[in-house]
Amino acid sequence: MTKTIAGIHHVTAIASDPQQNLDFYAGVLGLRLVKITINFDDPGSYHFYYGDALGQPGSVLTFFPWPGAQRGRIGTSQVSVTSFSVPQSSFSYWQDRLKEHGVQTDASTRFGEPVLSFTDGDGLWLELIGAATPDERLAWSGGPVPGEHAIRGFHSATLSEEGYERTAKLLTETMGLHLLQEEGNRFRYAAGDGGPGATVDVVCQPGAPHGLMGAGTVHHIAWRAADDAAQLAWRAELVRRGLNVSPVMDRQYFHSIYYREPGGILFEIATDAPGFTWDESPETLGTHLKLPPWLESYRSRIEGALPPLRLPHAINTSSSA
Ligand code: ZN
Repeated sequence: MTKTIAGIHHVTAIASDPQQNLDFYAGVLGLRLVKITINFDDPGSYHFYYGDALGQPGSVLTFFPWPGAQRGRIGTSQVSVTSFSVPQSSFSYWQDRLKEHGVQTDASTRFGEPVLSFTDGDGLWLELIGAATPDERLAWSGGPVPGEHAIRGFHSATLSEEGYERTAKLLTETMGLHLLQEEGNRFRYAAGDGGPGATVDVVCQPGAPHGLMGAGTVHHIAWRAADDAAQLAWRAELVRRGLNVSPVMDRQYFHSIYYREPGGILFEIATDAPGFTWDESPETLGTHLKLPPWLESYRSRIEGALPPLRLPHAINTSSSA
């Protein structure tokens, strides 16, 4: 059993309009919608998962799209930016594509890599980064973005903090990440072997406003545990270090524990298995509303309460389970 954190598992954010969210992430960014389900803690709302062809750990951005949700404020004690990895050679493709779709972008360079910054319709801060090390992960080529240009998965995420020392200590001394680079108030940490999907930046911004949860903000970031045994070992270790950690929760596609890092950001450790293909074939991922077994008997009531969706490829959610 290895207890190493292999990198980012998923990032979960809040949106205000399910259809606008689908159109942007599956349509403009060309991610694969790998699962449509509901928020298990709030069955009246959707939970969307976007990712690579199979929704592999390290590629999955998930949303709770709450219709009419108030916009939040991005600030400290939050994951302020979610960054995806694209080939450096695709940079101008993405600049053109986003412009065509009316998305304003800002190009810069960070740690020697080109960065394209923009927001989604709710104001969530996103980046496409041309990774210096070639990203060999297989992209989803069945969407509107050709495979050669498609998003490979996460590059990294930015944690905004009022102060960074105790967060840095948790990342390095407890969670096993190591400091890779620093530039001004930005400290880059790597998990495992590092590289795209295994990198996180901590930005120390004592003067910045505190983040407020709402549409256009990240709810939590999840880290990868290889299996249930590794997750339990992490739970014991985090508790031993004085953190409050949730019990293991069954999220159907992975098992989760949650805790708050010292700066206030909600962290999760999620297992790689069972993954998104346990209840749908790889070919049909994201084409039907999936419910956990304990809610299946309420399907018609749940479906009736959810807003209708126009899915990528125009497949209807209500056609069958
Ligand atoms: Zn999560």
